[in-house]
Amino acid sequence: MIVIRGVGASSGIAMGPAYILDAEKMRAHKTKISKTSVKSEVLKFKNAVDLTLKDLDTAEAKALKMLGKEHAKLIETHKMILQDPLIKKDIPNKIIKENVTAEYALLQTLETLDEAFNRIEDTFFKERRHDLFDVCKKLHNHIAKKSEQKFKDITTPVIVIAHTLYPSDTISLQEKKVLGFTTDIGGKTSHTALLAQTMQLPAVVGLLNASGQIKNGEMIIIDGEQGLLIVAPDKKTLDKYKKLRKQYLESEKNLKAIDKLPTITKDGHKIKLMLNIDVSEDLSKIEINADGVGLLRTEFLFMNRNSAPGEEEQKSVYTRVLKHFKNKPVIIRLADLGGDKLCQYAIDKELCIKEDNPFMGLRGIRLFLRYPDMLKTQLRAIYKAAEDKQIKDTNIKIMIPMVSTLAEILETKKIIKEVKNELILTNAKVENIEVGIMVEVPSCALTLDNILGEVDFISIGTNDLIQYILATDRGNPKITDMYDPYNPSVLRIISLIIKTAHQKGKPVAVCGDIATDKNISPLLVGLGIDSLSVTPQTYLKTKQKIRNITFEDCSKVVSQSLLMANPKEIKKFVVENLNENP
Ligand code: PEP
Ligand code: MG
Repeated sequence: MIVIRGVGASSGIAMGPAYILDAEKMRAHKTKISKTSVKSEVLKFKNAVDLTLKDLDTAEAKALKMLGKEHAKLIETHKMILQDPLIKKDIPNKIIKENVTAEYALLQTLETLDEAFNRIEDTFFKERRHDLFDVCKKLHNHIAKKSEQKFKDITTPVIVIAHTLYPSDTISLQEKKVLGFTTDIGGKTSHTALLAQTMQLPAVVGLLNASGQIKNGEMIIIDGEQGLLIVAPDKKTLDKYKKLRKQYLESEKNLKAIDKLPTITKDGHKIKLMLNIDVSEDLSKIEINADGVGLLRTEFLFMNRNSAPGEEEQKSVYTRVLKHFKNKPVIIRLADLGGDKLCQYAIDKELCIKEDNPFMGLRGIRLFLRYPDMLKTQLRAIYKAAEDKQIKDTNIKIMIPMVSTLAEILETKKIIKEVKNELILTNAKVENIEVGIMVEVPSCALTLDNILGEVDFISIGTNDLIQYILATDRGNPKITDMYDPYNPSVLRIISLIIKTAHQKGKPVAVCGDIATDKNISPLLVGLGIDSLSVTPQTYLKTKQKIRNITFEDCSKVVSQSLLMANPKEIKKFVVENLNENP
């Protein structure tokens, strides 16, 4: 038996024979062609573009039907890649200039683009590299007149073991009734991982070279929660996982039933359970009865485009979200651009300039205060959306990201006041909207007593707070083990934030990913958190967890954990004392 640790990309347990997907490489030799053949090679390339476009149209229709608008948009991105001059113009130019075959020109161009992608450091863009390969692979197949029949041999349920899986492959897995999959590369935020979650297909990614260590047909277990791939399990492991799988499936079934029930511990301690969503989310798929939106990420509205979104466009997007969550609080976060969320367009070119330390650079509110017009446009759109008659009772709040000083809050509030006054001058009605902050920078956490008088609420952004406390880049795969929420410094700062805020009568939420962790959410409850904000996919599980614990137990475990020094021991202690299935 071999156990290989990767990254859990989509939860669930799958057991079955391995189906090794050949990492079929795209290859072409440099063959000089005659001047007379150039025209036909260019034509071959153009035909391949048309055929690929047709494939993508079919895939888009399929994705729309099976997975919804959000995922269909991914195929739209693929179409954009295909139409990009770097592909559509540069490849024929290369064929003409260098007298080479269409296949060779394509692969040379891909190589150059790949090198450029490799130089990008942020994970979001790096992972879009797979989308580029996905498109070029299709294009290559049409040029080489090869049909794409990767999964033709799958006739019985299997676990697909691949070096990499493109998003379009992942969609096909559902049709083939595949039990789950693993890939050597890819991270938690890759489109393939996100698709697997939507399709509820257990998946483990980032397994380095696991696909080379497994034989076709070998018995495999994948544990999407723990990020484990188990090859040739012994009887004891197999039995354990059969039991776990049964429990998992039962708990998934029971989960739906608790949606209508309150988020309350066994001894009656109530927690507000909100949702983290982003503006591109397919809201029609969100049917859970959450207490509202604890974090509406707006930066995706600003990304992957050539100019900043205008007021009307933003207003209509916010209105759509507000209508969906009628009568509930919706916390709209001012765009947290910079860091790993880059805009492709530039204002004075600064937004596009690569910084040496982007997470410590011009990011979040720092960037907006440098470009107040951009901030004002977003604020006007929010105030106007709040005035929409159809969503009158919705409780909109504004949240400022990446605050590191009191001065930034005062400056933002001054701009908010200016926007309100300008709107009043145009005879617009102006709602009173609460203003809160993300606490995600240690300087903000440690001076909260000076800040709280200026804000209505706070939400702890632990994704960033942890990376700044521990000086550990949240996206750097080399140091993932150092990004440790159980480090005593993390617990102490969260405890301090909650105590300070409660002394001043202000509610505290956590909207970072740790709120969804089944071991850490009870710790947050024990620390006295008022509200947790989690993804729609993890919402019911988090609710179930809270309904299965007592506030008293959580508080006891927290008091003890705060006295401990070793993160590993803290984790062990928490798991042993607050988890039914350690
Ligand atoms: C956070 O930092 O915890 C957070 C929720 O914000 P983001 O992940 O968007 O930076
Ligand atoms: Mg953050």
